[in-house]
Amino acid sequence: MGQHKRRYIEAQDAQRRATLLAEIQAHNVDVFCWCNRCGHNATISSSRLAAELGPTFPVPDIGSRMRCSGCGSKDVAARPDWPSLGQVTRHDSPVSK
Ligand SMILES: [Zn+2]
Repeated sequence: MGQHKRRYIEAQDAQRRATLLAEIQAHNVDVFCWCNRCGHNATISSSRLAAELGPTFPVPDIGSRMRCSGCGSKDVAARPDWPSLGQVTRHDSPVSK
């Protein structure tokens, strides 16, 4: 791999680093949590989480601190609840067959 390409990939990785609670809190964005076992999901206030876990806590790591209120599983994923990603979690097709 060439030096230039390696540097490009490193730059991309830096951009992909975990988002911190303080960063989404600044945008008034909350945390969307999803249970990988039963599909239960919830949006949790980033302000509340920042108070409990600290503002520099990485958002993707929040899931490991969560327990699903639906089935009790600890297999929970978390991501920032960006408004623009709202449609990504929808899997229903608008086209009827
Ligand atoms: Zn669950």
